[in-house]
Amino acid sequence: MSFKIDITPLLKNVGLAIAVDETEKISFPEDNLVLVAPVKVKGEITNTGSSLLFLGKIASRARLNCGRCGKEFDLPLGVKIEEEYSRDRSKDGTTFRVAGDNTIDLTEIVRQDLLTEIPIQPLCDKKCKGVSKDASS
Ligand SMILES: [Zn+2]
Repeated sequence: MSFKIDITPLLKNVGLAIAVDETEKISFPEDNLVLVAPVKVKGEITNTGSSLLFLGKIASRARLNCGRCGKEFDLPLGVKIEEEYSRDRSKDGTTFRVAGDNTIDLTEIVRQDLLTEIPIQPLCDKKCKGVSKDASS
């Protein structure tokens, strides 16, 4: 699975920017992040000279279990991307802190940014009363 952006064209000149518009079906069940809609990543990566600045948005939809009643429901997700890759001064001065093949891995950005959007106790509805308590005392 490859969900990567090749930033090689960006490295030629300061001030260059590339548009990012990618859609990929991914999911992270091992992190309890089950995505039921393809992940859309839209934005722009700019070579500012001192860093690569990635600004954009991630949109998808997560399937969660309600923390009160246990019902499954889908939560639309929309997260801003604000990633900055600083220049790697230990190298020749033209490299940035990205993968060795000059790519930025969107999978990892998507995983981290979407995980911050998942509530600790997701609710199917703000007014959810939970399971009926009739059965217990
Ligand atoms: Zn509920």
